[in-house]
Formats: sequence, C-alpha cells, structure tokens
Amino acid sequence: MSRFWSPAIQSLVPYTPGEQPKVDGLIKLNTNENPFPPAPGVEAVLRSFDTERLRLYPDPECLALKQALAKEADLEHNQVFVGNGSDEVLALTFMALLRHTRPLLLPETSYSFYNVYIDLFNINARHIPLSDDFRIDLDDYCGENGGIIFANPNAPTSISLDLNAIETLLKRNTESVVVIDEAYVDFGAESATRLVNSYPNLLVIQTFSKSRSLAGMRVGFAFGHPELIEALERVKNSFNSYPLDMLAQQTAIAALEDHDYFKQCTRTIMETRQWTSTQLEQLGFKVLPSHTNFVFASHTRVPADTLMQYLREHKILVRHFTKPGINNHLRITIGTTNEMQSLIDCLRTHPEL
Ligand SMILES: *Cc1c(COP(=O)(O)O)cnc(C)c1O
Repeated sequence: MSRFWSPAIQSLVPYTPGEQPKVDGLIKLNTNENPFPPAPGVEAVLRSFDTERLRLYPDPECLALKQALAKEADLEHNQVFVGNGSDEVLALTFMALLRHTRPLLLPETSYSFYNVYIDLFNINARHIPLSDDFRIDLDDYCGENGGIIFANPNAPTSISLDLNAIETLLKRNTESVVVIDEAYVDFGAESATRLVNSYPNLLVIQTFSKSRSLAGMRVGFAFGHPELIEALERVKNSFNSYPLDMLAQQTAIAALEDHDYFKQCTRTIMETRQWTSTQLEQLGFKVLPSHTNFVFASHTRVPADTLMQYLREHKILVRHFTKPGINNHLRITIGTTNEMQSLIDCLRTHPEL
C-alpha cells in the first residue's frame, strides 16, 4: 500500500492465475492449457510474417478476424466483438453491460475473475449458491436483475447446462443481458451461439486459449446483437484501440480455419478425459461429469490439499481452491495420455490410495 495509490486500489484483491513456474520437467495440469500445439497454419503465419509490417498499427477493428468468426457462426461481423483474451472481453462486458442499480445475478461458485470485476467496477451483485450436486439451477435466477452471468460449462465444476435450460432462461429473462462464458464449450457442451439471432439480450463469450491452443496469443471474442457489440466497442475504444496485435489477429484466423485439426485435438482430449475419470474413480475419487478440458474430483478419504502437495512433490501441478464448499476438490487439466498416465501412476504410489 502506498499514499500515492488511488483510494479504490488500496482494497483491490486481484485475480490469482494458476502458477507458471520456470522449472523443467513439470507436468502442468493446473491452468487448463491445451497439451497440443496450435494448428499448423499458425506456425506458417508466424514463419512467413513480414517483420517490416510491425512498423504500422494493427487493424483496430480486427475486421478480417471478425469476418472469419462471423462466417463460422453464421452471423454478421457486426455481431462479433474481439478482445485481448476473453478476460478482457469479460472486463469490458462487466463495464459496458452489467453495471446497473438492479443486482447482477451469478453463481456463488464460478470463474473467480467475475468477482474481481465486480469489485473493480463496484457492481451490485447477488451470488446464488450451486445445488448440492454442484449444478447451476437456472430456476434460482429469477426476480429483478441488472444482468445474469455464468460460465457454461461452469468452472471449476466442469458441469454443463443444455441449450434448452438456457433458452428457457432467455424466454423468462428478457429485460436484462444474459452473458454466457463458453470458455470450455468445445469439449462436448452445447453452444448458445445459435440463439444469438433470436435473443437480443444474449451475449456469448468464447476464447482461443483452451480449445485452439492459443493461450499465449491472447484472443477472446463475443457474439451478440449489434447493439450489445456496439456497447463493447464504445468501452474498448475509450480504453485501448489496439488490444489485438497483428500476429494475434492473423494466427487466430489460421487456427479457426483448420477444422480437421480442431476436431482431432478436442476429440482426443475428450477421450483422454473419459480414461482419466475412470482411472480416478477406480482410485476412490468422485469425479463430476465434465464437458471441459479438466476434471473436478474429490477423494472419499484423502483430503484434496494433501493430494495436491503429494503430486507437487512429484512434479505434477494441479489446482486446488481454498474456497469453502469446493476446498476438498482438485481441478485437474486433461493433458496428453502420457501426462495423465503419469498422474495416475503417481497417485497409485500414495500410501493411502
Ligand atoms: C480460461 C477462462 C477464461 C479466460 O480465458 P482467456 O485466456 O482470457 O481467453 C474465461 N472464462 C473462463 C471460465 C475460463 O476458464
């Protein structure tokens, strides 16, 4: 703390990302990164890139990328917003669309960054507990509100809602924006993107970080009615006109256009997830039904923090949250089959398993 800080900054509690330790030989299953490299076209873009062009500013509108995303989703480019990772898209969304007198509704257990934005932008929010089996029950999201936001599939629980449940919510909740954070949707869940043309209050947010293996490039996007997109553009252009550099814009297009590679990577991760869940269950874990590139598991006897420490001593990182209600669970990213085999082998050597 310093007397030079703006007053609001003194009490700020920033988001804590999973660790990125600079240690060789670690198996990193703690930040939901994709274990496979980006599509081959990404490397081709980088190798053939004309460095001289970096003299110039990138396209502030990211039009080519928006058009590519619109084509994939069967939408128009003015229904697309892009940002520096979906974290930035979320930040701009909280500021542009979710700051009202009426309370924002969101799950008590969801992506913890939401609460950081709520504090940063001083948003009136009401947190709604999950059901006992860690599910979001959208019947609980009723009454006057200034917006609704949740991740689908939810994080860190990995459980998804189907499109029917989401459409039922949209039919009932027409007077405020409904934001669905679909960071993990490509791992077996149903996207609400195809409802965008029918519901002018729906904003769907996705990212290239997980299913497209581009976490290091920082590209996120949103689909919604042009009026919602316009609000995001206004805030973005009041803050940073160039959030996506030239390389990010071009590599994202290359990643998007390789359908076969995308299918192959996401399918492999889903198969490895199934294998991992079965193995964990045989070791006495309860594993929630996952539609993400991670599993959320708790052991019936051994506490989660004990297991997290044990794995860590054996150079395997997984994520453990200290939040009450989920502090006996581990969030384990699905890596390669070899990495998951190492995880299971390591757990087998634990004296209590
Ligand atoms: C990873 C994640 C994001 C952020 O992804 P970016 O890398 O910023 O695009 C957003 N929401 C959820 C639920 C996530 O897990």
